[in-house]
Amino acid sequence: MNRSEALRLIDQYTARILSTLARWKRRVKKVTRYTPFATQALATDLSDDLAHDAEDFFTVAFLLGLGFTTLPPTGHQIVNRYLALNRGFLSHRLVPYTTHLLARDPLNLSPLDHRVSLYSQPVWALIGEGSGQRARSYDLQGQDYQVIWHLDDLVDHCATCPPKARTYPSWNDFLLHCGGPPGSLEADDDCGPGCRCWLEVTPSNPVLRAALMSSSPTSPLRYVR
Ligand SMILES: [Zn+2]
Repeated sequence: MNRSEALRLIDQYTARILSTLARWKRRVKKVTRYTPFATQALATDLSDDLAHDAEDFFTVAFLLGLGFTTLPPTGHQIVNRYLALNRGFLSHRLVPYTTHLLARDPLNLSPLDHRVSLYSQPVWALIGEGSGQRARSYDLQGQDYQVIWHLDDLVDHCATCPPKARTYPSWNDFLLHCGGPPGSLEADDDCGPGCRCWLEVTPSNPVLRAALMSSSPTSPLRYVR
């Protein structure tokens, strides 16, 4: 995975969902009567808009980790699972919270800013899921590789991450110790875009690794509108 592209994708996604929130707040200001029906409809609008943003970005995140430009069938399943989880989270957590804020004071919606910015976490997890899929393709080819959990140098880490930051000889071994990629549900950690742990899945053979580094596959980032 190209780490600078991963960071760029996270920044783009965070900017997108915050701009969706800002647009929605402008709509809220134009409402003249905040009836229970109106607040529920507004909260659902925000949830729907954020779900659309996820549809635009989740596949790209997976492809970035995978390093290919087309999605294999197992990739579709993984991306769809994350989209469904995201929709459930928006419906069951964000909508009630937004309804509560609107009922309390529709002119003070600032608590939503921080909450919505945290919704970039699945993109980070999906980049790791894509890397895992690449490891699976190495398994199928019988190619030796290693999985490296990297800690970002620049940030404070959540407590769960430093013990995981080492090299694993296979994806199965990695899953045994870590549960899943950084920020995924299975990893059972607090890792996310703030911590910025990342996975490198790379051939063990240094010649192959160098060949891979020098090739420049088409970046899936160009698919983001
Ligand atoms: Zn972390």
